[in-house]
Amino acid sequence: MHMELTFDEICAKGLQVYDRPTLEQLILLDYTEVKVRFPNNGIRPMWQMELPSLYLVPRPLSVGDLEQNPGRCLDVLRYCLRKYTTFDKWWDPRWVEKAIELKMGWLEAWRPLTFKEADLLLEKTRAVAERVKILYWRGRRGRPATKRKAVVKAYVLQNYSPDLSGDELTRRFCPCGLEHDHDRVQDQCLPSLKSELTMLRRLLRDCEIKLPEHPMVHDPPFWDLGVRE
Ligand SMILES: [Zn+2]
Repeated sequence: MHMELTFDEICAKGLQVYDRPTLEQLILLDYTEVKVRFPNNGIRPMWQMELPSLYLVPRPLSVGDLEQNPGRCLDVLRYCLRKYTTFDKWWDPRWVEKAIELKMGWLEAWRPLTFKEADLLLEKTRAVAERVKILYWRGRRGRPATKRKAVVKAYVLQNYSPDLSGDELTRRFCPCGLEHDHDRVQDQCLPSLKSELTMLRRLLRDCEIKLPEHPMVHDPPFWDLGVRE
């Protein structure tokens, strides 16, 4: 796809411009072919852009914040993924594949969509993040990845609160919806959570991602705040 966009047009399209292309852009566009026209700097391919990361200032969270709002655990891993996405990694297709799996299969886990279902949804939304999600799940088979986000939360919280027992983690995060009596936890839910945690740990190792010493997040850039369109 050949495309030329000005900075303003990029903003108008709701695309997010960071100091390097985001995984969303990689999925949505063939980013090597997308060129950006700057007022003074001429035309540059998107992958060469080095815009100031003004809107990506990291902010520390307390473990209490995570405990109270486990959704922030997902933000901690999103922060890590962005932080560890370096230029040389973009040229490693194996890394990109794993990173997309982490991003779309875990952090934004959703459900498989038929082509028809996906196309109907695409007609209804122009929000980039939403469209990327729909495109990723379009035509996929299998079961909804409902557990994945819960596993991410359990993983991050366990890392920062090592005193939390597997039992407690299971009761808090297992999404099975059944009553968590002792036997159920020990025989079913805890083993299943543990095996999912192992999968996630392996994926993070493949992506060369480590959690920071203290939980950190990026607050969304101004164009993520829903002002546009
Ligand atoms: Zn359960």
